Amino acid sequence: MDFKLTEQQLAIDEGVRKVCAQFDDQYWTDCESNLRFREEYYQAMAQGGWLGITMPEEVGGAGLGVTEVAIMMQAANSSNGSYSAASAIHINMFGPHAIVEHGTPEQKQCWLRPLIEGRQKACFGVTEPDAGLDTTSIKTFATRTNEGYLVKGRKMWTSTGQVADKILLLTRTSAKKSAKSRPTA
Ligand SMILES: Cc1cc2nc3c(=O)[nH]c(=O)nc-3n(C[C@H](O)[C@H](O)[C@H](O)COP(=O)(O)OP(=O)(O)OC[C@H]3O[C@@H](n4cnc5c(N)ncnc54)[C@H](O)[C@@H]3O)c2cc1C
Repeated sequence: MDFKLTEQQLAIDEGVRKVCAQFDDQYWTDCESNLRFREEYYQAMAQGGWLGITMPEEVGGAGLGVTEVAIMMQAANSSNGSYSAASAIHINMFGPHAIVEHGTPEQKQCWLRPLIEGRQKACFGVTEPDAGLDTTSIKTFATRTNEGYLVKGRKMWTSTGQVADKILLLTRTSAKKSAKSRPTA
């Protein structure tokens, strides 16, 4: 198997490392000590066009795939910021992917563009106190009302939830069927 990176992939690695190099150890220590979000770093990544690497070109993204994201995240992770540098931006890589895949053109413009441009931040709400990898067992429930949806439930471990403007929230809209009532193949 040929693991040699293409010219484009090498350019991604180099470009991300260049942005990360603007932020030294002192910057990351300061963010950690003062419990503050890495806003300057986030904005530098947005300006470099990196926050939309997996998002469609028609809303300002690059339309690239998993390999390119892996290269980007490895470059961010090996910078002075390490996991802090990666976790500040990683939600954009996969969190809004339901909108990338299934959103209408209007939804993509409305929800994705502000994330790509760094004007808004998103988080991803899946995990609950009693449901981790077994996501079908989540209990958060959305009931349709005349005004929209009424959502009840609990989420935890929501990365960047403290600073996010938007959440891609995983909820049930119908009760989970018990194993007994599920049809067998
Ligand atoms: C740094 C970090 C950031 C995170 N950010 C987010 C976030 O932004 N949003 C969010 O929603 N969540 C987030 N999470 C939560 C993460 O997605 C969960 O930890 C993950 O879904 C696993 O859930 P759990 O810890 O409850 O483990 P569990 O689901 O309880 O699994 C524990 C272990 O049991 C095994 N296991 C589970 N079910 C079975 C089974 N049926 N058969 C055999 N083995 C099984 C698993 O493989 C695993 O080894 C984050 C977690 C970390 C560590």
